[in-house]
Amino acid sequence: MFPFPSLQVLPRSLWLLLALATTITAPGATATWQAGTGREKITPPAGLWMTGYASRDRPADGAAQELWVKALAIVDPAGNRGVVLTLDLCGITREITEHVAAELVRKYRLPRSAIMTNVSHTHCSPFLGGNLKGLRILPADGLAKAEAYGRDLEQRMIRAATYALEHLAPATISWAEGEATFGFNRRENSEKDVSALRAAGKLKGPFDPRVPVLAVRAANGELRGLLISYACHNTTLSFFQWHGDYAGCAQAELEKRHPGATVLFAIGCGADINPAPRREVSMAEQHGRDLADAADRALASQMRKVEGTFNSALEDITLVFSGRPTEEKLREAREKDQANKEMYQAWSAAVTEDFAKKGEAALRYEYPVQAWKIGNLTWVALGGEVVIDYSFRLRSELGPNLWVFGYSNDVMAYIPSERVLKEGRYEGDTSMVPYGKPSAWSPGIEEKIISKTRELVARTQR
Ligand SMILES: [Zn+2]
Repeated sequence: MFPFPSLQVLPRSLWLLLALATTITAPGATATWQAGTGREKITPPAGLWMTGYASRDRPADGAAQELWVKALAIVDPAGNRGVVLTLDLCGITREITEHVAAELVRKYRLPRSAIMTNVSHTHCSPFLGGNLKGLRILPADGLAKAEAYGRDLEQRMIRAATYALEHLAPATISWAEGEATFGFNRRENSEKDVSALRAAGKLKGPFDPRVPVLAVRAANGELRGLLISYACHNTTLSFFQWHGDYAGCAQAELEKRHPGATVLFAIGCGADINPAPRREVSMAEQHGRDLADAADRALASQMRKVEGTFNSALEDITLVFSGRPTEEKLREAREKDQANKEMYQAWSAAVTEDFAKKGEAALRYEYPVQAWKIGNLTWVALGGEVVIDYSFRLRSELGPNLWVFGYSNDVMAYIPSERVLKEGRYEGDTSMVPYGKPSAWSPGIEEKIISKTRELVARTQR
């Protein structure tokens, strides 16, 4: 509400100002959608530790590519606003997302559900305090630097979103889907066989080649913003330099091809999908070009125009871990001389600390589920490393005009489907070690997430 005691007593000049403000912030029936973009560099300074792999035994050597946070703000003709922040980072904590969201809610009176964060999961990015705590116990100065980086990151995220929200312009928003095939199901295929299996059309396991593309064009038709997605790990690279991996290359390539456009990458449910081939920068660049080509083909196709309204919903559900590890198991992890012993020591320390702090509440986790209605398109954003089964199931149940992102708002662990949980292995079970979590999730996780998603999507459509 405006803090005016009574509108009747306003002087004429204020009436004019108020009328002008109303035209800008709440356009009438003839108004169009609006959009704005923003960006901030988040490449860490020298001396920060890297994350993503147990082999990260020292700080980064330098930067091979800049890392970015990018923001896209959209406003429907009725003035409902949403802002998505995408980051070239491996993970993000609930604390960081909530600090940033709280500031944007305060400054712009956005509903919390209208703010979304998504990380690309590039493994050539910095260790964040609170994320992947079971990967390694950092030396005290390394942890202090990681925490300082996190605080600075929050300010950069706020600045990127602020810029986007304060530079809105009339826009046409449209969407389409392309295809890229450099990903493969890493649970069902051995990496060394992928190129032969792919050539023979014999790759096994679920995999989604779709490349969702959302385009933002100015009134004169110029491309101003692009958000692309792909469901595949950003693990082409594992060297000791900052790099956005294939997602960073795709963004850079598309920004080169479309000068003046800010390109964002939001990762899909790629927790069981890897890129191939891997290891060389040239390979990340090739995957990036493949993705850029797919996006350009989608841009050249008959895109669907976003019409209607924006709406959003966000809620936590409580997920439950299957059990508390015994003291003996924790001690063994601490003391046994084994491969990746630093990781098991870090896991033991993280779990011990968590139970000391929270007691049995450490067996529960508040998990964020978010839904956006962007006219005739629906986005679902799920926390954690979500396996591809969720995307397939949600699209089959809720219809094809749906994009499902993982790695959103909080990356606390892998999120297996019931199938993957039963099968176990890394995504279903042992990845809880690097995440510093007590055990695998309890059965029933898939149904809980799917039913809350269904409920929130339905709520945004009302
Ligand atoms: Zn991962």
